[in-house]
Amino acid sequence: MEERYFQTADLYVESLYEKDADLERVRQSIADNGMPEISVAPGYGRLLTLLVGMTGAKRLLEIGALGGYSGICLARGLNGEGKLVSLELKEEFAAVARANVEAAGLGTIVEYRIGEALPTLEKLGEEGEKFDFFFIDADKGNYVNYLEWAIRLANPGALIVGDNALLHGKTMDPAAKGNSVQVVREFNKRMATDPRLEGTILPAYDGLCIARVKG
Ligand code: SAM
Repeated sequence: MEERYFQTADLYVESLYEKDADLERVRQSIADNGMPEISVAPGYGRLLTLLVGMTGAKRLLEIGALGGYSGICLARGLNGEGKLVSLELKEEFAAVARANVEAAGLGTIVEYRIGEALPTLEKLGEEGEKFDFFFIDADKGNYVNYLEWAIRLANPGALIVGDNALLHGKTMDPAAKGNSVQVVREFNKRMATDPRLEGTILPAYDGLCIARVKG
């Protein structure tokens, strides 16, 4: 009953927005290439664009590119000024994402770094890189590590956003005990209570954590 309500509400809300050719292209390329259809929900994609624009963030870091859906949403918020660094494990996914951001006219402001995100984050730290905005959306078992890296690489006041806080209900189901579930539970708890952060968790779609790094 409740799930049907949210599905109907989602359909209604999406019917209010015009089709977005760039994001439709991403969805099509993901299907054509047999990639998993796990891009961020459209409503959260629009929220990412808004948050980047509203905070005036200029240096963005994304962990988990897939086909470039959230990358396009993030880069749009820059309004042509700034840079998005996007980390992606798979070369073939990054190639699809790159083609999609280029087709959206955003190619010059997005840089892909291929491979495991953790060593890349360490390298970014060694390079002295700092960011104003983080979007965490990769392997769930590393969410707490990604959060700690985001705080380390954050400019004061930076925003950290993490998708899949609910893991399709598993994070709130005491019977669910897998490693990813436990790590995302800990991630959610830190996003809600870490004294270095202030923020909120939106329980719509698959749950979105948003926190600002104080200071
Ligand atoms: N943010 C994307 C969007 O909304 O368009 C969706 C990202 S998808 C949920 C997760 C992505 O993280 C996949 O493309 C996957 O290959 C990548 N990934 C998984 N493990 C990773 C790792 N250890 N390092 C970097 N990327 C990883």
